[in-house]
Amino acid sequence: MLLDVAVIGGGPAGLAAALVLGRSRKRTALFDGGTPRNATAAYIGGFVTQDRIAPASFRHTAHEDLRAYPSVDLHLDTMVDRIERAGAKFRILASGAEYTARRVLLATGMIDEPIPLPGSRELWGTSLFQCPYCHGYEVADRPLAFLAPEPGEAPWVQLLRSWSRDVMLFTNASVEVEPACRVALAEASIPIEERRIIGLARTGRQLTGIVVDGNVTIPRSALFFRPVQRQAPVVAGLALALDDRNYVRVGEDDYETSIRGIHAAGDLMTHYHGALAAAAAGSKAAHSINHGLTVDLVGQGLL
Ligand SMILES: Cc1cc2nc3c(=O)[nH]c(=O)nc-3n(C[C@H](O)[C@H](O)[C@H](O)COP(=O)(O)OP(=O)(O)OC[C@H]3O[C@@H](n4cnc5c(N)ncnc54)[C@H](O)[C@@H]3O)c2cc1C
Repeated sequence: MLLDVAVIGGGPAGLAAALVLGRSRKRTALFDGGTPRNATAAYIGGFVTQDRIAPASFRHTAHEDLRAYPSVDLHLDTMVDRIERAGAKFRILASGAEYTARRVLLATGMIDEPIPLPGSRELWGTSLFQCPYCHGYEVADRPLAFLAPEPGEAPWVQLLRSWSRDVMLFTNASVEVEPACRVALAEASIPIEERRIIGLARTGRQLTGIVVDGNVTIPRSALFFRPVQRQAPVVAGLALALDDRNYVRVGEDDYETSIRGIHAAGDLMTHYHGALAAAAAGSKAAHSINHGLTVDLVGQGLL
């Protein structure tokens, strides 16, 4: 079947894009592998009208919305293995089946590498977080920690004061805090813990303390940390132009990548990660795709 648009990835970006394309009556297939970044989180914080909705409920509601549009097909739990150019179109290979699409929207998010701290996997999304805007409110006024991944990011710990007086910077013995930052944090009474982290103390999926060299446990209820990330294999396989932080480079208005006809939206093209921002990007990318496609189809006498 010839698709107008293949949307690869069914997180907030891909779902929002498919909605715009369905409402624009474009033959659209949404492929989703079902491995969202926020799978371990109990809720999505800060999505207007959907505040604190469970990630699974968010997706379920979006699927129900999309089923109202006959030109949209949902291929859930379906991974796209490869995308190839086929003349002016694209061949999509997904779980043994083959599709042809006039345009492609990549909305595959990012893959978080495991956090190199013992016991972190059990806490990711419940008290080990990537973003205080998403989860800071729920841990407000508790003892919080920030683990700086590099010296330039150490001052970021001050942001946590929005949510608690009791905040601490951890360096895991691998980040040298710059002198100006040391002075600023001392003046703000924000302690710096520079010993190596050897464990995370917890009760169930709740962090209770950070254990450092010498087997000393420092009581903390939440740890904020930015994991190393990589692109999904299907995106990496396209060898698209990336920016200096490994996000897919796109045009500011049209969200087109370095391959004409392939667009990208959501976490994979920006360091600014949030469900609402991803949905907005997906929606804007779909507007641009639909506009260009419609003009092309009119020019070819097909619309
Ligand atoms: C633990 C955690 C908690 C978070 N909490 C919040 C929060 O409270 N509020 C908030 O606003 N943001 C939160 N975020 C950030 C938010 O989840 C992301 O910004 C958002 O999900 C990005 O949307 P996306 O559509 O770009 O990608 P994703 O939501 O990651 O979706 C990408 C989808 O693409 C699919 N995919 C990948 N490769 C393929 C392929 N080859 N074929 C088919 N499908 C594929 C995946 O299976 C996945 O379903 C959180 C993130 C994490 C990690």
